[in-house]
Amino acid sequence: MTSRPEIHVKDLHKSFGANEVLKGIDLEIRQGEVVCVIGPSGSGKSTLLRCVNLLEEPTKGQVFVGGTELTDPDVDIDAVRRRIGMVFQQFNLFPHLTVTENLTLPQRRVLKRGKAEAAKVAAENLERVGLAEKASAYPASLSGGQQQRVAIARALAMGPEVMLFDEPTSALDPELVGDVLAVMRMLADEGMTMMVVTHEMTFAREVADRVVFMDGGVIVEDGTPEQVIGNPAHERTRHFLSRLL
Ligand code: ADP
Ligand code: MG
Repeated sequence: MTSRPEIHVKDLHKSFGANEVLKGIDLEIRQGEVVCVIGPSGSGKSTLLRCVNLLEEPTKGQVFVGGTELTDPDVDIDAVRRRIGMVFQQFNLFPHLTVTENLTLPQRRVLKRGKAEAAKVAAENLERVGLAEKASAYPASLSGGQQQRVAIARALAMGPEVMLFDEPTSALDPELVGDVLAVMRMLADEGMTMMVVTHEMTFAREVADRVVFMDGGVIVEDGTPEQVIGNPAHERTRHFLSRLL
């Protein structure tokens, strides 16, 4: 692949007090690549994702997104964050706002878009996730899967260069998972650069270009899905995968 690295993490360390949670992470994600991050609970997956948009401040090391160093003390972090969409396990929609208002508010506040433009972009992105007919609904009237698709549309409305997903389907009833994964699959097909923490091994196998297995704050394996899921080189990876079945 010849495209530039869109996300570049160099020797990243993160401690909470005396607890070193990330112990030297090196990771490059090229433009248009989909990387799934798997690993046991507490291995540092969320912390890694949160360091990639500086929701957590690394203790040591560097993070670059689109060639800009986020860990440079002089960086305009708000400007960089606009280029990074994030979707969490909990959808974090504003309950007192309609679906459309959830999508227009951040565009207006952060990107300073006018009312009409923000509404147009909101409508386009609701259409993309298959929820155009829910524009005037309130979050509480939607299923969990629909709320998560609204959260994805809200992130997309900001026009991000990369999308980070932290277990986006883990809070959903099993029958609602498929619709959310279908939207993520569509984004992958459109060439979005994506970093996805997930336990959905079928999605990882079918959609990811690479799978990264983390354990104890380090990357144990990094390779194609066929390598890491299909034919893991390390006992720790095999043990983790066997417990998912
Ligand atoms: P994962 O997402 O793989 O389950 P996390 O990154 O959430 O793992 O957590 C890794 C470790 O870091 C855990 O031991 C957790 O308790 C600790 N940790 C995460 N966030 C914080 C925080 N804000 N303060 C203190 N400890 C934290
Ligand atoms: Mg986590």
